[in-house]
Amino acid sequence: MIRFLAGFCREHPIDEKIFIVPSFITGRQIGGALARDAGSWVNLRFVTLASLAQEILEKHGGDSARKPLTSSAALALMDRVFRRLLGQGALEYFGRGGASPGLVRTILRAVRDLRHDGRVSADLRPGLFLVERKGQELALIFEGYERALEEDGLLDTAGLISLALKTAPAAPSAPDWHLCPMDARMSRLEADLVRAAAGDRLVLVPGDPVFGLERPRHAWPAPGPLDASGAGRLSWLFAPREAPPLTVAGVPKIFRALGCGNECREILRRLYAGKTPFDNVEILAPPGSPHPTVFHLLSVRTGLPVTFGEGIPISFTSPGRLFFGLADWLGNDFSVERLCRLVENGDLVLPSGAAGIPLPARTACRHLRSAMIGWGRDRYLERLGAFRDARKADLEQAEREDDDETGESREERLARDRAVILEIEELSAAVGKLLDVIPEPGPAAGHDFRDLCEAFARVTEDFGRSSSDLDGKARDVLLVRLAEVLEESRAPKLPLKDALDLLREAGASLRVGASPPQPGHLHVASFSSGGLSGRPMTFVVGLDEATFPGRGLQDPVLLDEERAALSASLPTAADSLRSNLFTLAAVLASLRGSVTLSYPSFDITGERASFPSSVILQAFRLSRGDPDLDYTALERELPEPAGFVPGGRDEVFDEVDWWLARLVGESRTSGGAASVEANFPDLAAGLAAAAARAGERLTEYEGIVDIGPVRDKVDPVAGGKAVMSATRLELLARCPFGYFLRHVLGVKPPEEVEFERSRWLDPRRRGSLVHEILCEFMTKVKEKKESVDPARHGELMAEVAGRHIDRAKRKIPPPSEAIFESERRDIVAALDIFMAAEAKREEKGEPLEFEKEIEKEEISLGGGRSFFLHGYIDRVDRTAEDTYRILDYKTGRTSDYENLVEFGRGRIIQHALYAVAAEKILARERPGSKPRVTASGYFFPSRRGEGREIMVRNFDRDKLRCLLNDLLYLLENGYFIAGPEAKCHFCDFAPVCVSGGPDETKRKREANPEVFEAYDKLDEYK
Ligand code: SF4
Repeated sequence: MIRFLAGFCREHPIDEKIFIVPSFITGRQIGGALARDAGSWVNLRFVTLASLAQEILEKHGGDSARKPLTSSAALALMDRVFRRLLGQGALEYFGRGGASPGLVRTILRAVRDLRHDGRVSADLRPGLFLVERKGQELALIFEGYERALEEDGLLDTAGLISLALKTAPAAPSAPDWHLCPMDARMSRLEADLVRAAAGDRLVLVPGDPVFGLERPRHAWPAPGPLDASGAGRLSWLFAPREAPPLTVAGVPKIFRALGCGNECREILRRLYAGKTPFDNVEILAPPGSPHPTVFHLLSVRTGLPVTFGEGIPISFTSPGRLFFGLADWLGNDFSVERLCRLVENGDLVLPSGAAGIPLPARTACRHLRSAMIGWGRDRYLERLGAFRDARKADLEQAEREDDDETGESREERLARDRAVILEIEELSAAVGKLLDVIPEPGPAAGHDFRDLCEAFARVTEDFGRSSSDLDGKARDVLLVRLAEVLEESRAPKLPLKDALDLLREAGASLRVGASPPQPGHLHVASFSSGGLSGRPMTFVVGLDEATFPGRGLQDPVLLDEERAALSASLPTAADSLRSNLFTLAAVLASLRGSVTLSYPSFDITGERASFPSSVILQAFRLSRGDPDLDYTALERELPEPAGFVPGGRDEVFDEVDWWLARLVGESRTSGGAASVEANFPDLAAGLAAAAARAGERLTEYEGIVDIGPVRDKVDPVAGGKAVMSATRLELLARCPFGYFLRHVLGVKPPEEVEFERSRWLDPRRRGSLVHEILCEFMTKVKEKKESVDPARHGELMAEVAGRHIDRAKRKIPPPSEAIFESERRDIVAALDIFMAAEAKREEKGEPLEFEKEIEKEEISLGGGRSFFLHGYIDRVDRTAEDTYRILDYKTGRTSDYENLVEFGRGRIIQHALYAVAAEKILARERPGSKPRVTASGYFFPSRRGEGREIMVRNFDRDKLRCLLNDLLYLLENGYFIAGPEAKCHFCDFAPVCVSGGPDETKRKREANPEVFEAYDKLDEYK
C-alpha cells in the first residue's frame, strides 16, 4: 500500500488527494509510514466515511440542521421505540421476554445492517421471513426507529450517508483524487458514497496480494490477476503449495504459551533477551481477545511503555470501575459490601468531614461494616446513627470505669472512643451526601432514567478519583456518553434493573487512550487497524481456534436465509468469517521484517487445553516449505509452551520473572532460598513455619506454645483475669487451637451482616431472638402466677414474638418479604412447640428465674485451685423445696447431644457448670437453705428439636472437678492443638486458621504422645 501511495504522490504531487480510512489514527499511521518510506508528500488528506459525508453535506448545502446520533444514543432511542411498542401490546414475538438491553442491541444491529444496505422499513415484507410475525414486528420497530429519527431531527451514520448521497452532485465539479484501500470492506451505502464522491477519480489502493483466499464479497473487486512482484512470503499463507522458495523474506516464527498472560510475557522476554527497542515492535491481537488487557495491566504494574491502537476498555480505569460499581451497588439494593469495595479500591472517594480530611478508606469501611447495615438505602443513616449512639453509651460507661484489662490508660481509651464517635458522624455525613445524589424511586417504584443518568454523572464528577491522564480522559468520555444517553432517553419510569442495564450497556463499549504508535513504546493494535506502523518486528497473538477466526454465529434477529431473501448485499455470518480471515491474511501479507505468530495452548482459568487455529498450521507449513504437514507434525515440532518461568536471566522482564529465574529457573541461584531468608525476615519466618509444620513434632505453629509470659492474663487459674464461660471451656475441649486464636491471640471474627439472598437470620441470631422472646414470655406468665397453656397464652406469645421479630427486622433487613415471612412462620412454629412441650411437661415445677446472670462465680477445682465463671442461665425452675432444675434453650438439632451421659467427653459441660454456679448463687440469695440442682440440661423448642429435653440428673461433682482440671491442663501447658474432631466447616476462624486442621493433628499423633495423652483424657468423661 505504502509503495503504491508513494508512487501516486510522486505522479500527482500538487493534486488534492483524499484518502478514505477507517479512523483518523489509522490515517496518521499511513501518513507517517509514507513520510518514513517515501519522503515528503503534500495535498494528501485523510478522511473517514462519516467525515466525507459531512463534507459533502457542508459543501453542497445539505440539511445540516440535523444532529448526528452516536451509537449509545441510538441504543437509547431504540430502547424507547421498543418499550413504546411493547407497552402498546404490539410485540407478540419479540416482547415475550420483556425489553432486555441484549435484545434491543441485537435488533438495533439488524436495523443498522438494513439501513447501511439502503433498505427502509417498507422493504421488509413479512413473507420473506421464516416466521411472518417476526417480519411484521421487525418492520414495525424499524418504522418506529425511522420516525423517531425524523421527529427528533437526528441522523445515524446510515442516515448521514444517505443524505450525503442525495446531496452529492451527479458529477463532482472540482474533482479531487479519492483513494480507498482496495481491501476495505464496505456496506452498499458506503461504497455508493465513495463512488459518488470520487466520480471517475476513484483510485483503489492495492494492498499486498493474498493468494489462496477468496476476496470477501464486501471488498472492492480486484481489477485483475494479483501481482506477486515484491510480495513477501506471507502472501502465500493460504497457498503454501504455490509459495516461492524459502529464501524469500517473510518466514514466520511460531510459539505457544500456557495462557494469554504467559504469551504476552514471552514476547517481552524475547524483547529483553534480544535487547530490542520497544518502538521496533508492534503486537497485533484478534478483536475481543484479552491480550491488550494483559499488556495494559503489565503496564500499570511495571510502568512498561505501551500505546494501544484501539485504547483500553473504560472498565480498566478508575472512573469506569466507579461507573459499573455504582450500578452494582444500586442493583444489589445498596449492599454495604459493594460500597466498601468501591471505597477500599479508592474508586469512590467519600467527601471530607468538618476537618477537611477524608476518612481513611479502611476506617470508613470498618465502621460501615460494624454498623450492621447489610443493605437497603434507608438503613445507612439509621444504622450509622444507632451505631454512634451505642458507641456513645460505651463512652459514658467507660467514663464511669477506671480499670482496664488491656493495659490501655483510661485517658487513652476515652480519647479513642471519642475519636471513633467523631469518625462515625463524619462517615454519616459523607454517606448522606452520596445518597442525596441518588434519586429515590418514584411512587410506582419506577426510576426516572434521566434522573439516574444525572446521578451517575454527578457521582463520577464529585466522588470519583482521577489520578492519571487516562482516568481524566475516561471521566470525560463517561460524562459525554451519559449526556448523550440522557438526551435520547425519553422513556417513562423504568424498573431499576432495566434502567441499570441500559446504563451498563451505554458504558460497555467505551474505550479510552487510543493512540498511534509513539517513540519508545510498544504498540498494540487489532488485526483491522494494525500493521501500518512500519515497525520491523511484529507479533501476532491469540491465534487459538476458539478465538480466531471466530464461530460464525448467525444474527438471531435477521437469519442468514432471511438476509439473502431481503437483499443480495446484506452481510451473512459466512461473510463475517471470511472477512475476518481475509483481514488477517491481508495484514500478514503487508508485514515486512520479523513476524512471530503465537497462540495460548492452555486455558488456565478453564483448566483445559486449547488448540491452534488453522492460521498457525498454515504458517507452520509455510515456514517449513512443506504444504502437507499436519497438526500432528505441528504438535511434535513446536517447542514446549512458554510458561511462568523465564528461560534465562537475560529474559527477565519484571520482578516476578526475576524471582522465578533465580529460584526455580534453569539458571537458578544456588542457595536462593537462603538468600531470601537472610534478607526478608517475614518470608524467613514463613519458611520456618512451613518447615516446622512439615515435620513430625507439633510446634508453636500448630499451637504448642509457652503461655508463661501472658499466664496471668490467659490462665483462669492464675491471676483471675481470665474469666471463663461455659462456651469458652467447651471451645477449649472441642478445638484448643480455636480457643488459642480467640482467647489468647484475641482474634475476633468481623461483626458484619452478610447479605444472603436465601436467608434472613443466621443460626446464632435466630437463637438469640428465640431466647429473648421466651425470656419475656415466661416472665409475664410467671407474673400472672400461671402455668403455660397454649390456649390461654397464645395471644400473649404472639404479641411478644411480633414485637421482638419486628425489632430484629429493623436491625437486620431480610433479603425479601417472602423469606422473612417463611422464617417468621418457622419461629412462630418453634414457639408453639415450646408452649405445647411446656403444657405436657410431667414434672412441672415452678419457673423461677430467666436469663439469670452468673456474674463472676468462683468454681472450685479442688486442691485450693479455682477459676471464675460468667454466663446466663436461660431458666431456673424450682421442682421441690431446695431442689432445682436448670434449662438451656437450644434452637438447633439434637444430634450433638444424643449421646450425652454426663459431660459429653468434655465437649458439653454447660449444664454442669451452671448447676454448680446456680447452687452457690441460690445459697447466697437464700441464707440457711441448701439448694441442690438435681436436673440440668437442654430444651429444644424448634421443628428440628421437636420440643425434646435432654437432661442430666445428679451428675458427679467430683468427676466434674477432675474433668475441669484435665481440660485446663491443656491451657496451662499451652497444648492448643487443632481438635482431632473439630468441625472446621462451621468454624468462624476457618478463613484464617493456619493449624492445618484435624488431619494434620492426627498425622502427628505418634510423635507427640504427651500432648495427645492429655487431650485424650477428656474422652473418659462420657
Ligand atoms: S478451622 Fe478447624 S482447626 Fe481451625 S480453629 Fe476452627 S475448628 Fe479449629
